[in-house]
Amino acid sequence: MIPVQEAKSIIQGELYQLGSEIVQLNDAGNRILAQDIVATFPSPQFDNSAMDGFAVRAADTNGTSKGNPGTLKMVSVISAGSPSDITLKIGECAQCMTGAKIPNGADAIVMVEDSSGFSDLESVQIFLEATSGKHIRKKGEEIKEGEVLISKGTCITPSEIGTCATFGYGKVSVAKKPKIAIFGTGDELIEPGNELKPGEIYNSNLYVFAELAERVGAEVIMRNVIKDDRNALHSFLSEALEKCDIVISSGGVSMGRFDYVRDVFMELGVHEHFWKVAQKPGKPLFFGTGNSTLIFGLPGNPVSSYIGFMEWVWPVLETMMGKTETKKLTGILKKPFPRDKSKHRFLFGKAWLEDGKLVCKPSTKTGSHMITSSLEANCLLESPLGDGLLVEGQSITASLLPWLSLGQER
Ligand code: AMP
Ligand code: MG
Repeated sequence: MIPVQEAKSIIQGELYQLGSEIVQLNDAGNRILAQDIVATFPSPQFDNSAMDGFAVRAADTNGTSKGNPGTLKMVSVISAGSPSDITLKIGECAQCMTGAKIPNGADAIVMVEDSSGFSDLESVQIFLEATSGKHIRKKGEEIKEGEVLISKGTCITPSEIGTCATFGYGKVSVAKKPKIAIFGTGDELIEPGNELKPGEIYNSNLYVFAELAERVGAEVIMRNVIKDDRNALHSFLSEALEKCDIVISSGGVSMGRFDYVRDVFMELGVHEHFWKVAQKPGKPLFFGTGNSTLIFGLPGNPVSSYIGFMEWVWPVLETMMGKTETKKLTGILKKPFPRDKSKHRFLFGKAWLEDGKLVCKPSTKTGSHMITSSLEANCLLESPLGDGLLVEGQSITASLLPWLSLGQER
């Protein structure tokens, strides 16, 4: 049994980054950028109007008001997409719509609401004194040309998609999706939707793994529940080692009589880096490598395998895709946390803000078979080994489940 930190650094030593591929912007959501996104032009690209109104020379509106309107000669109608090359002379103005280029000579926009309105007449009355620069979006005021807008390693969300599209990126380079094989073992496992016979239980772990894989941005290309049978295991695993970047098992790596997974890994020439980690839940955690494939043998108990995936596999997948590291948080305990004398302790938990501070409490159900303990959780809480409870007011490390936000206390 090795300490968590040692296990982490062993895995770190085996990590590598997958290559990249070009995808259409609309297919880039939730992928990890493999390039910097750079502004190829300033934004705005040219001075333009922030309002539907009249482009004026501000000085021409001096002293105008509702009670004392000024009259300007209307010389052009300029819309977004149809710039005009006129130059306003003294006493002239142009109708200028939102997004339209500001004509030469103009230095302010008067909103249409502050005028006698749009018309085909040759003049317009202005009811408001304009100041120079009013309602004009200046060239480059948001972004300068050449600025790095989004760094390589960023996960693409609607904000990144919007920015890429704004700057003309129709395609982007993203990290390839890690190819994953997931499998469960156990004669007792039945797929949900079927009837259980005595002694059987539903396979839930692979459903959790598949959902997690999808959310982190990996692709499950092999998935199976395998009976506790060496031959079936052997043939699934030899194919998985050939085709996949990551192989993840649930169950069958403990001390049970029918826990063959580790043996079969060995038969297939997998190099075992470790098999047991001083953590609870999930002490029997296997990590091995076969050529460039990383192999994780997670325990079968549903909470152990779920937490195991989040703690050990999720960050590995992110690193392989070059994702910028997500830091763990520190919160203050609102309820005691059961530390363990000899093992790093993980529990599902709830984290929320109170007076601007992050506070947390562990899930009330602590058994590693109790999958419903995840329903009330929005984070994982963890503590290194130690004697006795961590009590209210002490600090604790929290990792928010990436698809959830900070909740309310319940
Ligand atoms: P094992 O690691 O194979 O000894 O399994 C430990 C516990 O987890 C046993 O109670 C198994 O029935 C249960 N288990 C194993 N695999 C799964 C699975 N895919 N879904 C739900 N429970 C499982
Ligand atoms: Mg089993």
